[in-house]
Amino acid sequence: MIDRRRLTALLDRERAFFTERHPQSAAEYARAGNLFGRVPMTWMNKSAAGFPLYLAQARGARVTDVDGHEYVDFCLGDSAAMAGHSPAPVVAAVRERFGELGGAGAMLPTSDAAWVGAELTRRFGVSRWSFALSATDANRWAIRLLRAVTGRPRILFNAYCYHGSVDESLIVTSPHGPRSREGNVGAPVDVTATSRVAEFNDVYGLERELAHGDVAAVVMEPAMTNVGIVLPRPGYLEAVRELTRRYGTYLVNDETHTFSAGPGGATGLWGLEPDVVTIGKAIGGGIPAAAYGLSEEIAQRVQTMQHLDLVDMGGVGGTLAGNALSIAATRATLEHVLTTAAYTHMSELAKAFKVGVEAVIEEFDLPWSVNRLGARVEYRFAAPAPTSGTESAQAADPDLEDYLHVYLANRGILLTPFHNMALMCPDTTEEQVAEHSRVFRYAIEELSGRTG
Ligand code: PMP
Repeated sequence: MIDRRRLTALLDRERAFFTERHPQSAAEYARAGNLFGRVPMTWMNKSAAGFPLYLAQARGARVTDVDGHEYVDFCLGDSAAMAGHSPAPVVAAVRERFGELGGAGAMLPTSDAAWVGAELTRRFGVSRWSFALSATDANRWAIRLLRAVTGRPRILFNAYCYHGSVDESLIVTSPHGPRSREGNVGAPVDVTATSRVAEFNDVYGLERELAHGDVAAVVMEPAMTNVGIVLPRPGYLEAVRELTRRYGTYLVNDETHTFSAGPGGATGLWGLEPDVVTIGKAIGGGIPAAAYGLSEEIAQRVQTMQHLDLVDMGGVGGTLAGNALSIAATRATLEHVLTTAAYTHMSELAKAFKVGVEAVIEEFDLPWSVNRLGARVEYRFAAPAPTSGTESAQAADPDLEDYLHVYLANRGILLTPFHNMALMCPDTTEEQVAEHSRVFRYAIEELSGRTG
């Protein structure tokens, strides 16, 4: 279908063009020898072009690199900037809290926290909230509490999920049974001792695993978003809820990415009833912030367990979690930026983005599919759209993905480096979406050999 020789030639051409266009980024990378992997965080080496763009400025849906090129940003920090880069209400709240009032490191609560807790309850249902600085930590601490409360050792995940660098989650299925996910760094223990795994959308597989009676919690995204978007089949989420209740297992919805679905994430959109909700990234409007919400019942059970040390060294919490700055930024984001009206705009644009990609898929007769979850759109090199994480992982095509990413970047459009994912923020415009449709079509037209 895809002419691999043509793909390789085009990828080489685009990489050379990228190198030529970005001498300052290349120079910054060359001088960063004292950073591990030359980057502040090793995942920043996930660059289709061979080295990362260096950031100069970002505002709304626009990013400027150190070579002076401007981009339409559909990556939006892989959701961290879903509220747009530096939205004005968050900037004002940060200035006030950090600049005028001070106290981000004071270890004292502020009244914003109660407001945020009430707002998160209104949006997601669960009623007892705690804060973290990353979604990874929100998940870790929720898992600890649920192990403590149930006395059960294992956590169940969907194969090829991503919930941050949570040790328990790095498990996948295989024809020989559950195994550690490839590439897992420094696992503390064999993941099959701490975890169980089922495929997303596989109700029978889930029941088989829960029937062991040792699963404290199922931690899942209501739609998978880290291996393409894998949407739930009709009835699947209801079955998950019913089975978890039947086997005495708590249900955790990780809304970190599915927060794209609406003001209350997929939980709100689909009327789900998880026992715990975890969320990070976008809620801080670009300032590190995350949260986990417990049901009333779990909160009460934990609090009556006198032997648990929740106040000092018990393994839940961080000195900076819930700091005044993160909480002020979260309040501003929820109160003024990621509002119902903003979601309406973002979803409309995501629909238009999807239509643009689908038109090209149809014109060039590609065996690809596109899924959308509110403000988030992603295409996958498989049709029909995969229905499980493993199936979706098998549809990966790194060279093809790199080609599209570099081609778009060379023409002023950024996608998320880990996905063919595009996210809309309140500042994204119709023109920006149309620009993507136009450039995406060129990329495919050249690849098809019809021109170029
Ligand atoms: N949960 C989900 C669903 C995620 O997609 C991610 C990150 N992509 C995380 C948790 C972890 O977020 P962080 O890296 O900010 O801790």
